[in-house]
Amino acid sequence: VSGQAKKLTIGLIPADGIGKEVIPGARQVLEALPNIGVDSPSFNFINLDAGFEYFQKNGTALPEKTLEIMKNECDGALFGAVSSPSHKVAGYSSPIVAMRKHLDLYANVRPVVSVASEKDFSQKNVDILIIRENTECLYVKQERQTTDESTGLKVAWAERKISEYASRRCGKMAFEMALGRDKFRQNIPLEKRFWKGKPKVTIVHKSNVLSITDGLWRETVRVVKENDHKYDSVDMEEQLVDSMVYRLFREPHYFDVVVAPNMYGDIISDGAAALVGSLGVVPSANVGDKFVMGEPVHGSAPDIAGQNKANPIAAIRSAGLLLEHMGFHQQALHIYNAVDEVLRRGEYLTPDLGGRATTQQVVDAVIKLVQ
Ligand code: ATP
Ligand code: MG
Repeated sequence: VSGQAKKLTIGLIPADGIGKEVIPGARQVLEALPNIGVDSPSFNFINLDAGFEYFQKNGTALPEKTLEIMKNECDGALFGAVSSPSHKVAGYSSPIVAMRKHLDLYANVRPVVSVASEKDFSQKNVDILIIRENTECLYVKQERQTTDESTGLKVAWAERKISEYASRRCGKMAFEMALGRDKFRQNIPLEKRFWKGKPKVTIVHKSNVLSITDGLWRETVRVVKENDHKYDSVDMEEQLVDSMVYRLFREPHYFDVVVAPNMYGDIISDGAAALVGSLGVVPSANVGDKFVMGEPVHGSAPDIAGQNKANPIAAIRSAGLLLEHMGFHQQALHIYNAVDEVLRRGEYLTPDLGGRATTQQVVDAVIKLVQ
């Protein structure tokens, strides 16, 4: 209905450790958003259980109810962090993996963006979106061990799965997001844009070695563009993962959208996060065709949990990313700008960025700029 604010229902799953501190901060920022334009959403939040701590009390890491409510009542969700026990715990499996599966969140999307900061945490001019396929590759975990007959020594094997189905939909997401980012950038004055050219998708692979699996990945993603004129305005290129990484560190401003199979994507996206500062500032989103779940890249950080010094920025940006992927571009940009300004001023920074502010002080500083 035009002119009427849309009400979005967001599931909040703080889960473990600092997730319990940063997710409430992100919620406060969403609640503080003023009306921007006619389609400004209002929010309804539902707190949901999951995590290792929940498992220890209740014997399950992901109650059925959490999934049901997410599927039936929520427009999107924001996840905190889950502790991973260092040793195998009987009956425990990661709730985030299960949620991705049940909600069909088949790609993990990670923007890596420079901040123009006086304190300079980052290299300049980086604005990359990394899309990591999230359902297959070596993560199918088909491992086995045999014995080499001639030497009597152990041999370990891992099977890797690449399907045309998963590669195609991930490729499609990459081209769609390249167009979406291009549109999103129209909201930003040209002199402030880090990426000024045509949208570009870089396909990462290693098909010179893995010609069947990576060959299928590469070919399938290529064909997505070749078969659809909709993507004519998007440039496409390929890079072998090793040279891509070299380039990522030397010329990070060279990349726009990067799409990679699960394992390469995992490694590249952590490496790229190092280009722009602390783990505490990097957001991500788990994306499917029907649902989006924002999630800070960092874990539960048991070493600092409960001390009110976790950096809430990754979680706040994840809330922005959630809005961006739900189509609320102006609202998302409003959050990103407020966060950038807090970082640029450097007045309220948590210890991971060399400051002395508490989690809540950073949240309050962002809110002040958002309102
Ligand atoms: P997990 O098993 O949950 O991943 P971890 O020990 O690997 O836990 P991470 O959360 O991945 O911890 O964090 C790695 C390091 O980065 C820790 O020293 C942690 O304190 C720091 N860190 C992570 N997130 C933040 C944050 N939001 N603010 C400040 N420091 C952080
Ligand atoms: Mg970790």
